[in-house]
Amino acid sequence: MRILIISDIHSNLAAIEAVFIAAGSYDALWCLGDTIGYGPRPNECITLMRDREAVAITGNHDLACLGKIDLHDFNPDARQANIWNGEQLSPENRAWLEELKPNRDIDGRFTMAHGSPRQPIWEYLLMHDQAMANFELFNQQVCLIGHSHVQMGFRLNHAGERCERFLADNGQTIDLTDRHVRYFINPGSVGQPRDKDPRAAYAILDTAAATIRYHRIAYDITRTQREMTEAGLPVALIRRLEYGI
Ligand code: ZN
Repeated sequence: MRILIISDIHSNLAAIEAVFIAAGSYDALWCLGDTIGYGPRPNECITLMRDREAVAITGNHDLACLGKIDLHDFNPDARQANIWNGEQLSPENRAWLEELKPNRDIDGRFTMAHGSPRQPIWEYLLMHDQAMANFELFNQQVCLIGHSHVQMGFRLNHAGERCERFLADNGQTIDLTDRHVRYFINPGSVGQPRDKDPRAAYAILDTAAATIRYHRIAYDITRTQREMTEAGLPVALIRRLEYGI
């Protein structure tokens, strides 16, 4: 099976369309949350997830757009964009989003959480100490995470005592053959990368080869910026897309 793994689309339709074209055919779609918020096309992005029967979880921005967590936990720009995103949702798309949980087990080998197993909604899993503590909280070999918008991962060795953090390169491939070596894998953000690479980020799991490959793809950033301007979204959120910050 070829599985497309995406996270943090953030209502960026141009970016997710580019990812779908670049990724080609796949057997399943896993979406790690924050499908909406920040960007200009919330309904279109959710409709794509529904049509493609994504195995999905929810994120902090999704919940804020639904009014389920306090908007004051966000900076003014993000708050404004979340309010606007929430107001756009069709009843069907709102209902789909409301059903999602912030973490879920896939099978005996894979689990997913938007932030982390410890705090599925809020934790930014970026540091070695956090990874060590979180490896204790799930049994599967691989936990897929999003939220930080950084394409990266952590590798825990056989004995479970040495944890290595890595930033991913486009085309980098992780070998999952040894099931005693465990991972956190963050595919990066489709719609608002923050690792100084503005290209949309995603990953592909090949279950037959037991590999996960990281990818980046350029998309039409100016189209998304134009759509955001037309929607009256904050200028800082529009500009950051071209810098990948
Ligand atoms: Zn996000």
